[in-house]
Amino acid sequence: MPNTIVVVGAGVSGLTSALLLSKSKTNTITVVAKHMPGDCDIEYASPFAGANVLPMASDENSRWERRTWPELKRLTEQVPEAGIHFQKNRVFRRDKDVQVASCPMDHVFDRDPWYKSLLPDYRELSQDELPAGYDSGCEFTSVCINTATYLQWLLGQCLRNGVVVKRAVLADIAEAKALSHTGQPAAVVVNTTGLGSLKLGGVRDATMTPGRGQTVLVSNECHPMFVTSGTDDGDTEVLYAMQRAAGGGTILGGTYDMGKWESNPDPNVAVRIMKRAVEACPDLAGGKGIEGLGIIRHGVGLRPCRKDGVRIERERMDDGTWIVHNYGHAGWGYQGSYGCAERVVELVREMRREKGEHVDDEPKLFSWDS
Ligand SMILES: Cc1cc2nc3c(=O)[nH]c(=O)nc-3n(C[C@H](O)[C@H](O)[C@H](O)COP(=O)(O)OP(=O)(O)OC[C@H]3O[C@@H](n4cnc5c(N)ncnc54)[C@H](O)[C@@H]3O)c2cc1C
Repeated sequence: MPNTIVVVGAGVSGLTSALLLSKSKTNTITVVAKHMPGDCDIEYASPFAGANVLPMASDENSRWERRTWPELKRLTEQVPEAGIHFQKNRVFRRDKDVQVASCPMDHVFDRDPWYKSLLPDYRELSQDELPAGYDSGCEFTSVCINTATYLQWLLGQCLRNGVVVKRAVLADIAEAKALSHTGQPAAVVVNTTGLGSLKLGGVRDATMTPGRGQTVLVSNECHPMFVTSGTDDGDTEVLYAMQRAAGGGTILGGTYDMGKWESNPDPNVAVRIMKRAVEACPDLAGGKGIEGLGIIRHGVGLRPCRKDGVRIERERMDDGTWIVHNYGHAGWGYQGSYGCAERVVELVREMRREKGEHVDDEPKLFSWDS
């Protein structure tokens, strides 16, 4: 009998979960969501991400990022239509920020970080490679994802594997059980509603909060990408720049403002974002200051932050249906996407084994995996 699954949510977490689940021919998958790739809405975080790989977890919590990197690397090397390219990434540290260590991207700024053995070409920068005002830094090879292209590519991969995708707005997660395109009740519901899990009935996770991120998308080129450990414009303002693949423009960031829901970009913040970027990297605007930036658009996205970190676990509803949760990825949803979706598949397989189903000869999730 097919294993009927309904995935709620079509951001990077939902689509990656659906894609890995769809590798098993015994799973029949429906994705239902209020927002789909192509939509631009404050309740939908995924289009607003940079998105690059800048490991943020501590070593002990690094599983999601460690398991994702090889697949993003493979896609970058072998699947150009996914819209990902390699970029050097430079991390600039100021001792005064690193000592405080309250920044949400903390572990990126560790000296001797765990990720130096994961990401290629890691090296510490010499003093003459640092912009004025920074005490140390490092460089490594990373990727930058054109989120508009990549989300459509993920959706296409799901459709190719037989996943059926529908629009629906759920008031309660229990409604998902009846939404499979097969007409059969779902055996498993996967909850990938991001910040939606704050208000979604049956979940209502009060520990979810937005980490507001304001950005400016410009047409200027930026090599390498860079991020700094802090700014002099207050605790909620950060500084990073990354050029998206395939003509996606360069994202200048930004802010990390916890608990703020405002969906409109603040023009004063936008000016500060651009000033900081051209100060740190004058070449970005051809030495012309912010006048030399070609603004494509301003953006605001809400990172789905959860007090105790991501929630990936299973839970049984009153009627016996299983929910697998996969939400609360804050600012690392892309760079942890395959690792988290792999765990979703493991949890679904565990449940099927408990029901006495044979799942041991299912296909490998990743072609690079031994
Ligand atoms: C400015 C900014 C920069 C970022 N940069 C990076 C980066 O460089 N690298 C990186 O890895 N990450 C980055 N992130 C984080 C990343 O964007 C998020 O972690 C990720 O997009 C979360 O994806 P998600 O699928 O969990 O949630 P979302 O993308 O928010 O998707 C949620 C889905 O659930 C649906 N949904 C919610 N509630 C309901 C309901 N009641 N009924 C039906 N459907 C519902 C929505 O419609 C949507 O389809 C950044 C985020 C921001 C805002």
